[in-house]
Amino acid sequence: MTASITSIRRADIPAQGLRLELCWDAALLGQLPEASRPDIESPLRIQLSFRPEGGRIIMDGACQAQCRIACVRCLELFHYPLSLSFRYAFEPPGRPPAPGSVQLGSGDIEAVHYDGEQIDLLPPVIEQVCLGLPAYPHCSRDCRGLCPQCGTNLNTGGCACGAAAGTRSPFAVLGTLKKKP
Ligand SMILES: [Zn+2]
Ligand SMILES: [Zn+2]
Repeated sequence: MTASITSIRRADIPAQGLRLELCWDAALLGQLPEASRPDIESPLRIQLSFRPEGGRIIMDGACQAQCRIACVRCLELFHYPLSLSFRYAFEPPGRPPAPGSVQLGSGDIEAVHYDGEQIDLLPPVIEQVCLGLPAYPHCSRDCRGLCPQCGTNLNTGGCACGAAAGTRSPFAVLGTLKKKP
């Protein structure tokens, strides 16, 4: 079952746990300030599983979306397939979040409070999507970037500055040495 709900009631999570497959329109991220809003081209596909543990609810999640981001070297936009997984512990009110005491094996866990009745799924997923985008994205591993002199995108071809730089190669001096008698 694929749903577009953005919150879940504590009462709907049975003792044996609950799995949800969600599909969110990227417009749901519209609540973010524009500068920090990721450019998401596809709906967000989200898989969540919930299980009660003590008083808290543990949520394991995964999210996939097609994003568009700018390469830090050549400044071109490119498609970036975002795929991430995360884990949250939702603590009921009156209980201090104690991430150190959550015994769940290895891996990061975010402890957050909820009102004890309803868990809002938007904030944790949006947080993870924002954290999941690379801070220094590169369109490809061997992106050649922009020419520092004329600004030409060197992935799309050379520029005249490149040819001039070639003649200043430190190895050019070897050619002149050989010619000496
Ligand atoms: Zn690039
Ligand atoms: Zn150039």
